[in-house]
Amino acid sequence: MGATLRGLDGREYIDFTSGIGVNTLGFADEGYIQAVTEQLRRFQHISNYYVSPVTALLAEKLTAVSGMDRVFFGNSGAEANEGAIKTARKYSYDRYGEGRSVIISLRDSFHGRTVTTLAATGQDKMHNIYFEPFTEGFRYIPMGDGAALEEALTADVCAVIAEPIQGEGGVNVMDDAYAALLRRLCAERDILLIFDEVQCGMGRTGRMFAYEYFGFEPDIVTLAKGLGGGLPIGAFLCSKKCSGVLTAGNHGSTFGGNPVSAAAAFYVINRLASEGFLTSVTEKGAYIKSKIAAASLPSVTEIRGKGLMIGIAVNADPKEYALRAAETGLLVLTAGSDAVRLLPPLNITYDEIDRGLAVLIETLK
Ligand SMILES: *Cc1c(COP(=O)(O)O)cnc(C)c1O
Repeated sequence: MGATLRGLDGREYIDFTSGIGVNTLGFADEGYIQAVTEQLRRFQHISNYYVSPVTALLAEKLTAVSGMDRVFFGNSGAEANEGAIKTARKYSYDRYGEGRSVIISLRDSFHGRTVTTLAATGQDKMHNIYFEPFTEGFRYIPMGDGAALEEALTADVCAVIAEPIQGEGGVNVMDDAYAALLRRLCAERDILLIFDEVQCGMGRTGRMFAYEYFGFEPDIVTLAKGLGGGLPIGAFLCSKKCSGVLTAGNHGSTFGGNPVSAAAAFYVINRLASEGFLTSVTEKGAYIKSKIAAASLPSVTEIRGKGLMIGIAVNADPKEYALRAAETGLLVLTAGSDAVRLLPPLNITYDEIDRGLAVLIETLK
């Protein structure tokens, strides 16, 4: 229930993982169960030849809350990013023809596990020789280096893909000045800006989308993990600028927009949009950070992140801490080479937070 689990060993665990940022409303949320089962009683799938009302409602809601113009539904984060990449390349081809297909990606990013999204991922350890050849046309630059960015945006570039807060790579927050430069340079050169919010979107940071902190919108935003609250669904949203790029027959997905997943996502997004919900995410995040900081732990070198997407940098292997925490009843994740990562359900209670923090602080001592 909620953020409290009972293991096969009969022991109780506090869940600070949400199944890697997926279970937005934790386990066994009554409203969620009702929304999903009601749709299941109507129909579970009809194919995209016909209109699924709940999928249309979800599309309307997502475009309304994001300021984007159109949405395409798939099943995962990787599929959402694949769609974004295809849209960017076709946008450029339609306007400029061949030879403008390169996509710039940031070091320590993570964009998925398909052959193309692995190529889009800016981590050498993901580019294993046994999966070669990877999709061509990706180049990597370090996040935060304005000069490197300016130099990278050459005439053969059609898009930049980036996470406003890198998840797997270490809970690294893009700073506002770099984000503003990225937005400006992309706009000046008609390069599409793709924000991968698969992990940091859907209320995780205390805003519906992390890009809201920057005060501007990207051209494309991708979503998945927390969107369906535990059922598989991914999406990419396009601004007006690129909403006409893909037309019938260009792209598709058999299960995309599945009515049961869509009913789950529609319920999740309405809960996130309900009075005070996102504010409570911000407050819980600040509470967790302040408690960890107040414990003055010598092992902790930095606390990063926004809302309930938190990275605690430690001066030893974070995996060791994660294992030890699990042994004493708390589930946490790691990120990059140095961080313990917390992604609790967004409706976690303060009682659960306190019980989890007691274990975490003891573990980090
Ligand atoms: C998890 C993740 C993905 C990949 O999502 P899948 O659903 O596993 O394909 C892509 N981008 C980011 C930022 C992620 O965190």
